[in-house]
Amino acid sequence: MKFEIITRNAEQTADVGARMGSLLSGGEIILLDGDLGAGKTVFAKGLARGLDLPEQTPVVSPSFTLVNIYQAKLDMVHIDLYRLEFDEIYELGLEDFMDERHIMVVEWAARAREFFRGPLIEMQVDYLDAHSRRITISSDLPWCTPEKLAPAGQPPME
Ligand code: ADP
Ligand code: MG
Repeated sequence: MKFEIITRNAEQTADVGARMGSLLSGGEIILLDGDLGAGKTVFAKGLARGLDLPEQTPVVSPSFTLVNIYQAKLDMVHIDLYRLEFDEIYELGLEDFMDERHIMVVEWAARAREFFRGPLIEMQVDYLDAHSRRITISSDLPWCTPEKLAPAGQPPME
């Protein structure tokens, strides 16, 4: 199914991530796209919280490190492809993380969309105004619905 969630502040975007994190069962690959500053990293921080990563472990943008790994309920592999050419993605060794014990969350995923195989959740984060974002989510996973993922107070879908 494909649907949109509007968030009105960064906490709400993190909350969508936390809801998703708590529903993951392992092996899912979350592909994030959207401009610089859209909220991809904010979403990934929420996701880590939903995976019960301890509060004191900071989740930081992988824009320089390319890949950050966090040990939680499921290990979260946080990837940023912004600086990579398509061929370079093969050098990251991501195949090692494509299993039931890991989940991957990939910023700028469109740079290597064809690389990712498995249970996918495709997300586009669009800037609406200083505080608001439109998050478009597309996935075949049965629990990927606005009822499960939208923060409380979200107007029903028309
Ligand atoms: P990206 O990883 O997409 O480049 P970041 O997540 O690092 O973007 O940054 C998003 C910025 O936008 C943060 O400074 C955050 O506080 C701000 N922001 C404002 N409103 C929202 C919102 N509704 N959702 C997410 N981030 C928001
Ligand atoms: Mg980012």
